[in-house]
Amino acid sequence: MASKAACQHDELLLECSPWAEEAGFERPGAAKRLAATTKSGRNPLAAKGKSVKTIKKLSQEAAERLSPSFPGPLLLPKDELNWDPECPPQSFRSWLHEVQRNKPTHTRKALYVASPPIVTPGVGFMNGWEQPTTAPINELKDFEPPSAEASLEYLRAFYHDLPVKFFPQPLSFVPWTESSQRTKSRSNHGYVGLAWDDYCTRIRTRETPDKKFKRQVNLNDLLDAAIEVLPDDAHSLVLLMDLDMYEDDDDDFCCGRAYGGSRVCVVSSARYHPALDSDEGIDYEHMWPTSHCKQFADGLCAVEELEPREHTKSIYETLDSPLRRAIDIVRGASTPSTVEGRNGLWFSRVARTLAHELGHCFGIGHCVFYACNMQGTSGIAEDVRQPPYLCPVCLEKVAHAIACELQLHDQVGKEEYIKERYRAIAEFCEAWKHVDLFAAYGAWIRGRLHQLSV
Ligand SMILES: [Zn+2]
Ligand SMILES: [Zn+2]
Repeated sequence: MASKAACQHDELLLECSPWAEEAGFERPGAAKRLAATTKSGRNPLAAKGKSVKTIKKLSQEAAERLSPSFPGPLLLPKDELNWDPECPPQSFRSWLHEVQRNKPTHTRKALYVASPPIVTPGVGFMNGWEQPTTAPINELKDFEPPSAEASLEYLRAFYHDLPVKFFPQPLSFVPWTESSQRTKSRSNHGYVGLAWDDYCTRIRTRETPDKKFKRQVNLNDLLDAAIEVLPDDAHSLVLLMDLDMYEDDDDDFCCGRAYGGSRVCVVSSARYHPALDSDEGIDYEHMWPTSHCKQFADGLCAVEELEPREHTKSIYETLDSPLRRAIDIVRGASTPSTVEGRNGLWFSRVARTLAHELGHCFGIGHCVFYACNMQGTSGIAEDVRQPPYLCPVCLEKVAHAIACELQLHDQVGKEEYIKERYRAIAEFCEAWKHVDLFAAYGAWIRGRLHQLSV
């Protein structure tokens, strides 16, 4: 693969693309976004005695100042919000009062990471299910699946101060004995068992509809198994999978899913395999942070015959902002052409989804306020355009759960926690700076910490 430099365009799109209107999505306005970060649910700029007009103007100005750090959700054609423009916003206040929400407590605060189940000889037919069928074998041999250790380290930084541990027992795939009676054809391996200790759960499998993998496993069954194995001290558990997954008859595949109320989630690395990127039409030049390139967004909207949006900021007006710093870092890099680079790219995608799915276990819903790690996504192409950070609304939720509900800190302690968490993630990113997403995330955080210090 030839190496190509990242996007060099200057104009940034800090609002939703013009497609948002077409899709019927109305982003919560500046005042609503500010209000969405507060406990009271009120706009902090709306003090008594100020006119509605003044409040609106102040909110607008505050939002403009924030946008080069936290731009709006891009909303390009075929993005999740295009299909679900009515997705309800979850403010900090509505999250706080969510009855179903599991708070971290001193007896239940650990985040467990369960490594991908081992394929035992009895189900040898499953070997190779993790390999994309569309790529030649010799092209696949140098790829290394994302490491469970690195995943754990990332979550340790992202959910800073919570204990993150490996699930102690290995899980394994074994034959499901009933299946031989139930399945008509012996060659159709309809069921496998997922085993640990003396237990075994039945997992449905099916042929992969789009043929990108040989077969895939049912994620609802995996999540049922995860509920069974959940340790007593677990706040939640994430099950790592290297096999392709599906949810039901209506979907082709699914990369991650959480039963937030039940404290479990599952994330599959299969579809993030870089060998599938050309099929998915992934534009290496415009993954986050350069996904906010205006020319790129306009280009995708123009396909749908829309006029470019006028309100934009050139990169020169956003000097020193976190987004600008992130873009500067990747502009100097080239698209990953080495094996190490592509393996890093693979891991970075999985890391982002792990943090997202565990966010659901903290009761956090999909984010519609900003571009954010908690945005819903309609597929890999949208995934890689979304940022790894939490927006101001979602960050309040995580910080409140850990710093206030668990550690009993006040507002000042919470603000200190936010900075410490940023430093922990920046440290992770420093160790992974050979991967563009982490190099950019590290730069974004340094920019953000600089803003918080002045
Ligand atoms: Zn989600
Ligand atoms: Zn958010």
